[in-house]
Amino acid sequence: MVKEISTTVIWELLKTIPDPEIPAVSIVDLGIVRNVEFNNNQLKITITPTYSGCPAFSFMKEEIVRHLETDGITNYQIDISLAPPWTTDWMNDAVKTKLKKSGIAPPSLEVACPQCESQQVEVISEFGSTACKALYKCLDCLEPFHHFKQI
Ligand SMILES: [Zn+2]
Repeated sequence: MVKEISTTVIWELLKTIPDPEIPAVSIVDLGIVRNVEFNNNQLKITITPTYSGCPAFSFMKEEIVRHLETDGITNYQIDISLAPPWTTDWMNDAVKTKLKKSGIAPPSLEVACPQCESQQVEVISEFGSTACKALYKCLDCLEPFHHFKQI
């Protein structure tokens, strides 16, 4: 590898990888990319899985590899860090807004309907389409929606 690549370039690259379950947000938005650094020209990316056993995680890792190799980056190492455990607090407010716009109630102890903000909601299923999300129904506007579980 001859071209100079900075960590900024790597972060920008990682930001283009969407979460496989919620395409509106990237893996960087989710906070699973913990660190990007170069040690003697060797790139090291540290990632933390969201919910343990989340099947999307191995897919995300494969996506990182695919994006790096597409860009001609071959001297990389991907470390998986389990401590500290991932928490929804690692998502910033901009990400929560993105979730809401795609019809998903962001992580919160007080679940509100992403359409009408009503807190008159009921759980339909603790496990929606994925283990990370619960399916709710709004009792005011009657729209069903997903809530990204707070952990
Ligand atoms: Zn509603």
